[in-house]
Amino acid sequence: MSGWENFNPEEAKVAMGSALKHLDPVMLHFFENCVNCGLCEVNCPYTAAGEEYGPVEKAELLRKLYRAQVQILPRIFPWLFGAGPPKTKEEVDEWVEKAYRCTNCGLCYVTCPFGIHSGEMIKVLRGYLARVGRVPTLLKAMIDAEASNTLLENKGLKEIWSNMLDKLREEGVEFNKKNAKYLYVTSLAEAMMTPGSVIGAVKLFKKLGIDWTMSDQPLSMRAPIGSLAGDDEATRVVARRIYDYIKDMNPEYIVLSDGGYPYTFFRFDLPRIIGEKPSFKVVHIVELVEEALHEGKIKFKTTSESVTWHSPCKMGRFGGLIEEPVKVLSQVSSGFVKLGSHGIFNKCCGGGSSIACIVPPTQEMMEKILGMSLQLTASEKSFLDKLYKDMLVAGKAKVDEIKETGASTVVTACVGCMHTIGMTTKAYGVNVKLKMLSEFLAENLE
Ligand code: SF4
Ligand code: SF4
Repeated sequence: MSGWENFNPEEAKVAMGSALKHLDPVMLHFFENCVNCGLCEVNCPYTAAGEEYGPVEKAELLRKLYRAQVQILPRIFPWLFGAGPPKTKEEVDEWVEKAYRCTNCGLCYVTCPFGIHSGEMIKVLRGYLARVGRVPTLLKAMIDAEASNTLLENKGLKEIWSNMLDKLREEGVEFNKKNAKYLYVTSLAEAMMTPGSVIGAVKLFKKLGIDWTMSDQPLSMRAPIGSLAGDDEATRVVARRIYDYIKDMNPEYIVLSDGGYPYTFFRFDLPRIIGEKPSFKVVHIVELVEEALHEGKIKFKTTSESVTWHSPCKMGRFGGLIEEPVKVLSQVSSGFVKLGSHGIFNKCCGGGSSIACIVPPTQEMMEKILGMSLQLTASEKSFLDKLYKDMLVAGKAKVDEIKETGASTVVTACVGCMHTIGMTTKAYGVNVKLKMLSEFLAENLE
C-alpha cells in the first residue's frame, strides 16, 4: 500500500537535511543565480501542460528548503521569504505533482544563459519527497526488488530473461568471459521492452568481429532505478553491484545499446557514486558502427524506407553523440530525414525520468508481467491519471515533428523514449514504426 495518504509535518521538517546533502558548488550556483528571465520556460516539455510546471516553478520548491536552512533572514522569518517544507498533505501532494513533471531532459539547462539545470534540482527534490514517503508504488516495488537483487524471483520477469538467454545462446554468445575487450551491458528492461535491441546488438558485434562478452544475469532493471526517485542508498547498492561485476570481467570498454539514462549513469554518475576512476571506457554501439563504416569494415543494404532519428537526451544532449547516429542512418536509408529540432535542442519525448514507467498503461502492462495487482490509494490513482494526461500533452511537440517529417519509421536508442513515443503517437493517431537503433541496423546488415 502506498504512503500517498500520509503526511507528517515533523518528518517533512527533519527530511530537509537530505536536500542539503547535495549542496556542492554547482548546486549552490543552481540555487543562487536564477534571475527569473523565463527563457527556460518555453523549452520545458511540461510547461505545455501548465505554467505551474515550468522549470523555475518546480525548482523553487527545492529553493524553499534551501533558504529555510542556509540563508539567515529566511531562517528567522521563513513566511516572509517563502522558505520551508510543505505543511499539509495537500501541499505535499502539489510538490509531488510538480516533481513528477520533469523528465530531467536538460532542455532548461542548455537554454538558460546562466547554465542552471533545474532538472538536477528537481531530482534532489524527488529525493526529499521520497523521505516523506512519496515514491510511486510501482517505482518503489522495482527499486526494492532491484536493490535486494530479487528481480528474477518474480516468475514473469524470470521468464522474460530466460527467453532472452535462449535467443542469445542460439546466437552463440559467450557469457561472463573475463578480459574480453568489450563488455556489453544490457538490462532486464531492455529484454522486456525492446528485446530486438539486444539481439540486434549481438548481431552487430558478430559482424564487427570484436572480442566481446556479456553477463548471463541482468545487472539491474535498467540503471539503478533508485536514482529516478532520489533514493541514494538503493542507487549506491545497485551501482556497487554493477561496478564489482564489471571490474571482475576487466573489459577495456563497456558497450551500451540503450542510450537513455543508463548511458549517463555509466559515463558520468557511476564513477562519482563509487568514488573511483574506472579502468574501463564507456561507448555506445553506434560509435563502434560508425568507426567500422568509416574504415569500410561493415556494410549495410540501402533501404528506401523513410526514416527519422529521435535523439535520446542522455546520449545526445548530455553525451554529445548527436551526429554519429545521423551519419550511420543516412548511409542505411536513402530516405533519411532529420527531425525539426535535431541537435542540442532536440525536443524531449515527455516520458523520461520514470514518468512513462509509472503511468496507468505501463502500470497495467507491469501488473500482467509481474502477476500481481498493485494496491493504490485513490489519491495515488488520481495523481497517476493526471500524470498520464500531462505526459500526452508534454509529448505532443515530439509527435508533431515526427508527423512533419512524413517518416514511416522512427529510430531511437532509449527504452524509455521507445515506450513513450509508442504511447504518444498512438494517442494522437500517428502511425509510425518504432525501432531501436541496433535492431534497425542489424536488420539492414549486408
Ligand atoms: S529538465 Fe526538462 S522537463 Fe525538467 S524542468 Fe528542465 S526542461 Fe523541464
Ligand atoms: S533561464 Fe535560467 S536564469 Fe532564466 S528563469 Fe530559467 S533558470 Fe532562471
